[in-house]
Amino acid sequence: MSDCIFCKIAEKKIPAKIIHEDDLSLAFEDITPQAPVHTLIIPKKHISTTLEVSEEDSALIGHLVRTAATIAKNKDIDGKGFRLVMNTNADAGQTVFHLHLHLLGGRAMHWPPG
Ligand code: 5GP
Ligand code: ZN
Repeated sequence: MSDCIFCKIAEKKIPAKIIHEDDLSLAFEDITPQAPVHTLIIPKKHISTTLEVSEEDSALIGHLVRTAATIAKNKDIDGKGFRLVMNTNADAGQTVFHLHLHLLGGRAMHWPPG
């Protein structure tokens, strides 16, 4: 999508600190980190929210989760733990409408979340 900031990052039209890329996904550091580790994992395909995930995207979503787990291992936060978050729409605080998985770690997380 032409006006989507994460599509632009995937197309390398705007810069980001990219730490992983493959045919289906891209992972880059969040510009406003909320934890010592705050990486965003996105599909290269534009999907607005979790509400638009279709049956044919099932393997893609699994791929995003597996990519996040690999990054967590590489960043050595797997043992202590981490949080994967997909915010959907206003009440959850979604601000970028290109589906993304937040990988948060490097500190203890609160529950329930704010
Ligand atoms: P959301 O609130 O939609 O779940 O998360 C969007 C995330 O994208 C936020 O954590 C925000 O800091 C991050 N973000 C927004 N714009 C940019 C950008 O241009 N570059 C990067 N690297 N992160 C961004
Ligand atoms: Zn997009």
